[in-house]
Amino acid sequence: MGEFFKVLKRFVPPYKKCLALNIIFNFLAAFLTLFSFAVIMPILEMLFEIREKGYHYMPLSGVKIGQLADVIVNNFYYITQQAIESWGPSWTLAILGLLLIVMTGLKTGATFLSSYFIIPLRSGIVRDIRNAVYDKIVSLPIGFFTSERKGDVMARMSGDVAEIENSIMSSLDMMFKNPVMIIVCLLMMIFISWQLTIFVLVLLPIAGMAMGRIGKSLKRKSLAGQQQWGRIMSNIEETLGGLRIIKAFNAERKVERRFHQETEVFYELSNRVARRQALAHPMSEFLGTITISIVLWFGGSLILLHSGGIDAPMFIYYMVIFYSIINPAKDLSKAMYSIQKGLASLERVDKILSARNPIADPRKPQPLPAECGEVRYENVTFGYDPDVPVVKNADIVIRPGETVALVGQSGSGKSTLADLLPRFYDVNGGSIKVGGVDIRDLRVHDLRSLMGNVNQEAILFNDSFYNNITFGVKHATKEQVIEAAKVANAHEFIMASEDGYDTNIGDRGCKLSGGQRQRISIARAILKNPPILILDEATSALDSESEHLVQQALDRLMKDRTTLVIAHRLSTIRNATQICVMHEGKIVERGTHDELIALNGFYTKLVEMQKVNS
Ligand code: ADP
Ligand code: MG
Repeated sequence: MGEFFKVLKRFVPPYKKCLALNIIFNFLAAFLTLFSFAVIMPILEMLFEIREKGYHYMPLSGVKIGQLADVIVNNFYYITQQAIESWGPSWTLAILGLLLIVMTGLKTGATFLSSYFIIPLRSGIVRDIRNAVYDKIVSLPIGFFTSERKGDVMARMSGDVAEIENSIMSSLDMMFKNPVMIIVCLLMMIFISWQLTIFVLVLLPIAGMAMGRIGKSLKRKSLAGQQQWGRIMSNIEETLGGLRIIKAFNAERKVERRFHQETEVFYELSNRVARRQALAHPMSEFLGTITISIVLWFGGSLILLHSGGIDAPMFIYYMVIFYSIINPAKDLSKAMYSIQKGLASLERVDKILSARNPIADPRKPQPLPAECGEVRYENVTFGYDPDVPVVKNADIVIRPGETVALVGQSGSGKSTLADLLPRFYDVNGGSIKVGGVDIRDLRVHDLRSLMGNVNQEAILFNDSFYNNITFGVKHATKEQVIEAAKVANAHEFIMASEDGYDTNIGDRGCKLSGGQRQRISIARAILKNPPILILDEATSALDSESEHLVQQALDRLMKDRTTLVIAHRLSTIRNATQICVMHEGKIVERGTHDELIALNGFYTKLVEMQKVNS
């Protein structure tokens, strides 16, 4: 339970006011419950005709605290007696009934208001958790999300947060209402007969302990269930991404079988969790009835023996109160189960929230250098697994406005080398400097504001042309956007579309051709107007016709900018100031096109290979 209060301490502060109102109305509801039931006593008194008539009015002034209750009860009886005398017992019953109705109306009103105020807290905390997870996802480095992690993160975002909502948050109401009810009623019970109440208090924890057992194992089981759910989600994600291949290889049955195995495991786990949970209610009902029977026996004996200072109507009132805390106590124990289950999910969500971000701003960030067009890789070594370097001792200098091209076989480490520049990953050895400053001494935000990216796959969002082009730019005028689109050879096809710049491009730009997508992402880079450009195989996914338009746009974009270009087609980088040939993570040759051809080494081989292919 300690964990539960830690959760509250973390998430409740913004909702303090709601919580305070909730607690106030809970107390009000509890007191009204006591008094509404108190009306029953004189009714019973009349029906059973136990006492002889003869109450006298006792003034309240000068009464000792200890006798206050007796005096109030006496006066209440007196008033009832007067009423019977003047209106007859039937009318008096009706009036008492009416009083009960009014009191109960007030009580249920207070109960409603207490729920009313806890609801925004409940849904608010869930919203806050969702936002926190999303913000964390956006801030974590790219390297954090391997493909199996993606499914897992999705599962935590959907399944676990929903679980927190269903179990912890829906129990919050009870966690605040029921203890208040129980305490207020218990105080009243002690007041009526402490002997009987001590007996009850000994009995209840025994029943409670039996219930606690089940809660513990429930948490363990449900943790396993959520993990399995994560596996299912990543399976679905992978399937959606690879549907084309699955069909081409006739592997439908195979992936189906694999998926069904996963869901089978989930089925088993869910059954176990649900059965444990289903056990809670019958168990508590059974234990509750046993408890009541024992109390009936003990209390009845006290009355029959005339000890314990309690008479029959009092005892019935006592039982009514006792009964009215049995339900809250049961709900409370159910809420405890739920919370155990939800805490398991919260633990998983917390794993994301507390994930450390290794790519953080430096403690004392340096300002951006005035002249930041120069990029310098010095003896850079990097591996996704630090023991397996993918880039080894790379040295590259790109002077302002120059273009350096990286070429080499697929898998030789070109993209990795380029990803180090915007700090998508941090180098393991050596350093990268921009304008003479180590990029780790700059604010990440400042560093990335210097760069424009165009990749093989244009990454677009489900939004209009206009918003996709202005994605990274805060204040852009319509004219600037159109100008950028024109330079990128995109203006014409944008204008030809239905709503011009306001046309929605579909999910990830699926309504556009590859070349069009690429030209939009070039327009985006042009609008951002960064001094440094990173082009990673920007034209390699295109057919030669659209390649021409894209290449033209790229040439305009690269003009006067420091550019690191990775090219698949060697013809596109002939004019680069320097070409670096990579092989297995090392830069093995460098020079201009003609110098490299003269070397007759790796580069020449690459060129010849392309000649054969085309
Ligand atoms: P290129 O762009 O030259 O084709 P990459 O830089 O993409 O090559 O990859 C270089 C090597 O790093 C390859 O062996 C590849 O398997 C590995 N690699 C690439 N990305 C990752 C990643 N996210 N995690 C682990 N290994 C990776
Ligand atoms: Mg690559």
